[in-house]
Amino acid sequence: MRWTQTYIPTLREDPAEAELASHKLLVRAGFIRKVTAGVYNYLPLMQRVLLKITNIVREEMDRSGALEITMPVLHPAELWQASGRWDIVGKEQMRLKDRHNRDLCLGGTHEEIITDMVKGELKSYRQLPKNLYQIQVKFRDEIRPRFGLMRGREFIMKDAYTFDVNNAGLDKSYDIMVDAYFRVFRRCGFDIKKVEGDTGAMGGTGAHEFMVIVDTEGGESTIFHCDKCDYAATDEKAKFRESNLSGNPDENQLERKSVHTPGMKTVKEVTSFLQVPASKLAKTLLYLADGKPVVALIRGDRTINEIKLKNYLECNLLEMADPENVKRLTGADVGFAGPCELREIKMVADSELMHMNNIVTGANKNDYHYINVNQPRDFEVKEIVDIKMAQIGEHCPRCDAGILKSDRGIEVGNTFKLGTKYSSSIGARFIDIDGEEKPFIMGSYGIGITRTAQAAVERFHDNDGIIWPKPLAPYEIEVICTNSSDEHQRKTSFDIYDALIERGCEVLIDDRDERAGVKFKDADLIGIPLHIVIGERGLKEGVAEMKVRRTGDVIKVKIEDASNRAIELLGKIN
Ligand code: ATP
Ligand code: MG
Repeated sequence: MRWTQTYIPTLREDPAEAELASHKLLVRAGFIRKVTAGVYNYLPLMQRVLLKITNIVREEMDRSGALEITMPVLHPAELWQASGRWDIVGKEQMRLKDRHNRDLCLGGTHEEIITDMVKGELKSYRQLPKNLYQIQVKFRDEIRPRFGLMRGREFIMKDAYTFDVNNAGLDKSYDIMVDAYFRVFRRCGFDIKKVEGDTGAMGGTGAHEFMVIVDTEGGESTIFHCDKCDYAATDEKAKFRESNLSGNPDENQLERKSVHTPGMKTVKEVTSFLQVPASKLAKTLLYLADGKPVVALIRGDRTINEIKLKNYLECNLLEMADPENVKRLTGADVGFAGPCELREIKMVADSELMHMNNIVTGANKNDYHYINVNQPRDFEVKEIVDIKMAQIGEHCPRCDAGILKSDRGIEVGNTFKLGTKYSSSIGARFIDIDGEEKPFIMGSYGIGITRTAQAAVERFHDNDGIIWPKPLAPYEIEVICTNSSDEHQRKTSFDIYDALIERGCEVLIDDRDERAGVKFKDADLIGIPLHIVIGERGLKEGVAEMKVRRTGDVIKVKIEDASNRAIELLGKIN
């Protein structure tokens, strides 16, 4: 492709609204243009990258036995009502009404549609397992669309769904998809990490997320991993091995006392005033779970994990109680709540609380805390669960030796064991070998195609621009004719270009009437893996320069060998 005939509107300045390097680069290098919040045009270079990713995904899905289909973007509300998700997904769903005033939505995911599709069509265990997938645009009205393609409101996703007769079948289908995901992401050039993910409250027996590790803000997900074994999980899911160090079980239970703590509301204020470590205090947090009050207790130096709490409570909406509700429920302002007087309210304690005695808590009275609170003498909790965030430096929950470390990652894909949530609610059943009618055991598997493209840029770039992994690059080779008005240079450049095209390479030639400096800058910016530079000085010596974008290595080759050497060199680039 000739630069003069294509459409690559590069910019000298960073776009004002972009925060991430990858977002800035994709705009500056002329790959994407914003239409409105979270909605983008994909320009010709981007389109080629997206096709490359799509092809890799399609090849690996087909290889794993999955069947490609296309489902509609426009969904009737009824199916989402049948699964119960119309109310749960809520505002994230793009909704509209048709001319008959019927409710519709634009698909953000397709469990309902596909389950309804196979219902009555896949009738017998003999037709199972099946894996059906599509690559298609998705719509989600994200609260904070940001970071360019990372979190869009319209984006491209590959979504696959498996149907099995039993859990053993699902496990097998799931493992096949996990293998396919590793192949997809490795072919895209990533050192991909598979981590345990949250399964949500409603069914689901296992989930994993596939992460590209980056050390920038673009890593929206936090993951914890063991420094000794292969344990790795998202912060929503991660656990650690609890030690008893938070309390001495042999410590005598002392008499509970009320202490005046004027204006002291935070853990830090209270514990430094009382001169005790934060691990001696129990934070008392008040929530409304689908409108019903819940008290959550957690050690003072820990952070509550609302996903774990929500999953445990199996509620749709979990909100922190507002100050008015806190006052109504505890009789005191925020900052003075404690478990002792709250026996009437549902109470959930983090498992670490069981190791603690002579604890500090709020006294449900403004400006007062208790010391030496002990259970079950002063309060009793029956619901004891892990509701805390993992922390760096804690012990691995899986192996004996390891310590937890943390990283940031971009979630480019995920796999999810759904079980029968959708097949049961939508009534999609088959006849099993024993003659009984049973709901399908399902799995669902997503890959963010557009997010993957930007993740590659976030992971692979330098100060000068993008460094595309070869399998995703819009072109493999860029021929730079430094002075397009010099006939000799032009002819030599086009001869090399033609020879490479002839041999099946994907080549871009910069034939613009621009200064050499502009061309070099743009070449580094758009990030094609191999550059061939034809310039006046080189021509006098009969040589062309080849530059590997990733390493910056430059070698000189004879003009007549240029295409052969380029292909040879390209073979060595990842
Ligand atoms: P997240 O936690 O990032 O919101 P999710 O759990 O909602 O992701 P899924 O519904 O499982 O994601 O979607 C499958 C894949 O689609 C994700 O792994 C991600 O790569 C991609 N994806 C999800 N939401 C977006 C979005 N708003 N913009 C771009 N890609 C997205
Ligand atoms: Mg989401």
